[in-house]
Amino acid sequence: MAEIRDCPSCGQFFNYNGLREVCATCFQEEEKIYEEVYRYLRRRENRAATIEQITTKFDIEADLLYRWVRRGRLQPAMFPNLGYPCDRCGAIAQDGKLCTKCKDEIENELAQIEAAEDLREALKTQEHVTYHGRKL
Ligand SMILES: [Zn+2]
Ligand SMILES: [Zn+2]
Repeated sequence: MAEIRDCPSCGQFFNYNGLREVCATCFQEEEKIYEEVYRYLRRRENRAATIEQITTKFDIEADLLYRWVRRGRLQPAMFPNLGYPCDRCGAIAQDGKLCTKCKDEIENELAQIEAAEDLREALKTQEHVTYHGRKL
């Protein structure tokens, strides 16, 4: 599945093999930064570092950080302030595609739809009962 793409970091063409988003040079560069970021984060006093602190300190794009979290290379379970933007609202999410708020909202909406359906069912049954009741 090799495919020629241009590297989003440096603009050079490279063979995209589905494993790397960037060219080999940039990939090596990213790996070096990853090692540094990871080493930094592993120190207890840095565990709670925010995305902004890390991007400023290492002079990297937040996107790079998001990618590492998405791929599970940086675990939000270990580093509570890390995450990536929610597909729905852009707030920081830590697992799945959505943030906790959106997940809750969607769950509520679904619950409301279900409740409405239950109500409709209940009304239907009631009508049924009344109808038969009247007949008797
Ligand atoms: Zn590149
Ligand atoms: Zn959200």
